[in-house]
Amino acid sequence: MAEQGKRYTGGCLCGALRYEAQGEPTLAGYCYCADCRKASGSGFVPFMNFPNSAVRFGGETLTFTSKAASGGDAVRNSCPVCGGLVFGGEIGKSRSFTIYAGSLDDPSLFHPTVAIFTRDRPAWAVVPAGLQIFDKPIEAAIVVRSRRFDEKNVPADDTGRTGREHELTAADCGCREESAAP
Ligand SMILES: [Zn+2]
Ligand SMILES: [Zn+2]
Repeated sequence: MAEQGKRYTGGCLCGALRYEAQGEPTLAGYCYCADCRKASGSGFVPFMNFPNSAVRFGGETLTFTSKAASGGDAVRNSCPVCGGLVFGGEIGKSRSFTIYAGSLDDPSLFHPTVAIFTRDRPAWAVVPAGLQIFDKPIEAAIVVRSRRFDEKNVPADDTGRTGREHELTAADCGCREESAAP
C-alpha cells in the first residue's frame, strides 16, 4: 500500500472526458495569454502541469491545435459532447500535460503560485494577491522548481539542471511553447 501522494480527478461538464493525476503538479498558476483568453472565453486559465507519467485520460477528445509563438504546436483538448475545455497537450506525444483547474472535481485542491503571460492581461483580468508574476512560463517553472529543489536539497546534474527542469517541456500553460522539446 504505497502512498501515492495526492490524487486529482476531474473532467468536463457532461462527464464524457475524464482524467486522473497523481502526485504534485510541477507548476500551478493562472495563464493570462491571449490564446487562453480566447479558448476559454475568460480572463485567464487556471492550470496545473503534470508529467505524462502522472496523468491518465479517459474518453474522446476534440483537439484544437494552434501555432505557438515559437513555431511549435499548442494542442488543447475539449469534450466533443459538451464542449468543455479540459486539458492541454497531445495524448501519446507530449511529455507533460496541462490540466485546466476549473475542471477539477474538487477545485479546492488547486493551489496557484504563479501568474504567467501577464503581458497579455486586460485590466479587468485581475491577478490575485500572492502570485508571483512572470512574462513567460519557462521563467516561472525554473524559479519554482529551483526553489523546490533547494528545499529538498536535491543536487543538479552535470549540466547544472535539476531533474524537474529536464522534464520541462515549456508548455506550462498548454498554449505557447517557448521551445520545441524533442
Ligand atoms: Zn463533456
Ligand atoms: Zn495560456
